[in-house]
Amino acid sequence: MFVRTSWRRLAHRLRQSAVFVAFPLIACAQASSQTATASSGGGRPANVAAEPRLIVAITVDQMRYDYLERFAGQYQSGLARLIKGGAIYTNAYQDHANTETAPGHATILSGREPYRTGIVLNAIGVPDANAPLIGGGGPGASPFRFRGTALIDWMKAKDRRSRALSVSRKDRGAILPVGRAKESVFWYASNGNFTTSRYYSDTLPTWVKRFNARRIPQQYAGKAWEPLLPLSAYPEPDTVSVEDLGREPAFPHRLSADSAIAARDIIGFPWMDDLTVSFALDGVNAMRLGAGPAPDLLAVSLSTTDAVGHRFGMASRELHDQMLRLDRAIGTLIDSLYKLRDSSTIVISLTADHAVTLPPELAKAEPGAPPPMRVDLSDVAKEFRTAIAARGADSNAFDFEDAMLFVDKESLEKKGIKLDSLARAFADAAKREPGVYRADVFQTILKADTSDFIVRRWRHAVPPDYPVLVVVTLNHGSVWGSYATGIHGSPWDDDGHVPLVFYGPTIAPGRHAEFETVASLGPTLARLIGASPGEPVDGHVLTAAIR
Ligand SMILES: [Zn+2]
Repeated sequence: MFVRTSWRRLAHRLRQSAVFVAFPLIACAQASSQTATASSGGGRPANVAAEPRLIVAITVDQMRYDYLERFAGQYQSGLARLIKGGAIYTNAYQDHANTETAPGHATILSGREPYRTGIVLNAIGVPDANAPLIGGGGPGASPFRFRGTALIDWMKAKDRRSRALSVSRKDRGAILPVGRAKESVFWYASNGNFTTSRYYSDTLPTWVKRFNARRIPQQYAGKAWEPLLPLSAYPEPDTVSVEDLGREPAFPHRLSADSAIAARDIIGFPWMDDLTVSFALDGVNAMRLGAGPAPDLLAVSLSTTDAVGHRFGMASRELHDQMLRLDRAIGTLIDSLYKLRDSSTIVISLTADHAVTLPPELAKAEPGAPPPMRVDLSDVAKEFRTAIAARGADSNAFDFEDAMLFVDKESLEKKGIKLDSLARAFADAAKREPGVYRADVFQTILKADTSDFIVRRWRHAVPPDYPVLVVVTLNHGSVWGSYATGIHGSPWDDDGHVPLVFYGPTIAPGRHAEFETVASLGPTLARLIGASPGEPVDGHVLTAAIR
């Protein structure tokens, strides 16, 4: 989410590297033959509803599983419906160490962890200068780094006529759930318009232009965000000094009276989710999604929870209020879809791209454990860069951001720098710093026992051919940096434990406590329409969720 200068350089270098040459779509011939068998299996039992015509995959950006339980008594709309009638996996994880938005969204409908999707970090997720936005308002973006296939490809392998609409406030939240597919993919630009990039199209459809012409975001100028319910409904204190880094820790929070600034800043307010839902519904209408000859996919990623979680933290009154408003927004989405289409033909899933860690300032020390803290290894990295420059190498060939050390192997080796010794030296230096739990040479992670969940999540985080030398894990509860109140991105369960819910007439309601991963979401949705992944996946079909 915060692309720093050195990362832009690195992304540029990685772009040139053979590692990042776009993979062709894997042919789905195998999938077609499998699904032919599955769907010609002698008819369905009489009590099973018809095959869904519309799959609705909802992703909440930065939602912890425990938000489903913490506010359950106050949900009354969309989340209440999913909790009451859904198949809920209470112990489901984004099972990778890089718990950021891009890797999480790439996993959601691909069945695969980042080591297979190639989407490792936000900074080297979707940015693509060769794919500018139509009408501007943000950096170019495309899925050119995404490897392999996703649900919409598996659907199309079964029936070419299936279509997808994917929408989000964020480029990565809209792009990655549909992999490389050139479907209808739209996100929100800072000029107040929903748009897409030249990867997908050279023009915007009429319905998108019409939606933008209504200038809805600008109409929020000057509006104040106040708690939805009476204050007695919120047990959290409002003024907590760490919230919003002390700037505006208490309600109300007001959008600028300037309409252009309001259209830019609305991304931090609950109304952005309402706007995304309205936009998605306009698209469903205009595209006749779910009313076509083959099953369609609607992917909706709602991003305000991430903005509020970063600004105020997971324990804040603001986060509590955001969840109540998200419940209503999801309710509007589901109720409206049920008015537009036969509800017996719709299946819905809910998950998150990642969760979040409690701000260390608010954490209670665990007995015998080091106190959670904010960690910054940039000084350590700087010493190494200086030493590398002294050897005549380009200091930009060494790039440590947060948890991973990327290098330009060729340019270091040319100057006689041994990568093995560099990796060991940096890992040793990192381990000496306060807040660091472990620093692993990545090559040893590739050989280590994956029953250790930290090893497994790092193994899942990075393709073996990526130029990563060292991966650093902080103590439980510690976070990288001080740029925001709430921070995520670690291999700990705090950042990985997310909701995984299925809902609809072909879903068997119930609660399941066994360990599962979000990589199982795509294969399970595929099974509901008789499709299956066209390549090896990390997840599996959650048969207990299916009637
Ligand atoms: Zn975030």
